[in-house]
Amino acid sequence: MIELEHVTKMYGSIPGIRDVSLHVPQGQTVGLLGRNGAGKTTALNLMTGYFPPTEGKVRIGGKDMMANPRECKRMIGYLPERPPLYDEMTVEEYLSFVSELREVTRKANKEHVNEIIELCTLKDVRKRVISHLSKGYRQRVGIAQALCGSPDVLILDEPTVGLDPRQTVEMRELIRKLGKDHTVVFSSHILSEVQQLCSRVIILNAGQLVQSIDLTEKPTDTLKLRVRAAGRKEALLGALQGLPCVLRAETAASPEAGTAEFLLTCRTADEQGRATDQIFRLLAGLNAPIRMMTEEKDTLEEIFLRNT
Ligand code: ATP
Repeated sequence: MIELEHVTKMYGSIPGIRDVSLHVPQGQTVGLLGRNGAGKTTALNLMTGYFPPTEGKVRIGGKDMMANPRECKRMIGYLPERPPLYDEMTVEEYLSFVSELREVTRKANKEHVNEIIELCTLKDVRKRVISHLSKGYRQRVGIAQALCGSPDVLILDEPTVGLDPRQTVEMRELIRKLGKDHTVVFSSHILSEVQQLCSRVIILNAGQLVQSIDLTEKPTDTLKLRVRAAGRKEALLGALQGLPCVLRAETAASPEAGTAEFLLTCRTADEQGRATDQIFRLLAGLNAPIRMMTEEKDTLEEIFLRNT
């Protein structure tokens, strides 16, 4: 649904993003994660056609943004970092105005706005002037304006930034709800938020795409174990490498005197039984008591820290 092909955006001599290629399939919710200045807003602005790429191609629904800007932009609703709200209008007036701009017919306008108000839980404030709203409500009106004209794609720049904890939870609920029938891309620097809401996370660092991770991936049939046992490192390493279930064995620094520590990549199980059982039996037979055996999991946090 959204494609960036070798996209670079330069601000004069400063790169916003460099040679980024990515694909967001229809219906997915994807999070762009990165520290300040990583290039998230630049990437989102390119997807919305706010400015053209310096190099590369941006496609929405298979159409080139540069060649078909109107068609592409019609497919997109955008919540920028600072939503373009008209403070003196009421919520209802504003949404009706934006719907008109997005070519919703006069006849359909009222019902369209009612649906959006319902979806974004804005009923209680529909007659209120926007300048009198709390930050949480203003942000929801920002999302509501992105929904005017029924776009398939929603692009949200840091939708929860500046919200209090309760407003944050409500905003995440709304994004989850919208993700059921939209393609959603949003930026964040909160790992847990991305993990809760997205099927894929794209990590940007210094303008480059450094990782794209499928968060729905099923566990593989290999596991990583960290094992510490009493005994001599070289002898134990050789023995562990000889186990049928062990695909790779590396040594690691052990904090405990008289012990050796290993990082093992294993098949979860094979015809000789579970990997953990095989390791236990081997080390018991070598009179090398196990002091620790834990599974090493790459958390999103670890991946993020490693890449940024
Ligand atoms: P933040 O989380 O702080 O919003 P970001 O990940 O959205 O950061 P961008 O705003 O896309 O990052 O910025 C990427 C790089 O481009 C940064 O080095 C930034 O200083 C630079 N940049 C962004 N906009 C401009 C601009 N209008 N002119 C010059 N440089 C810019």
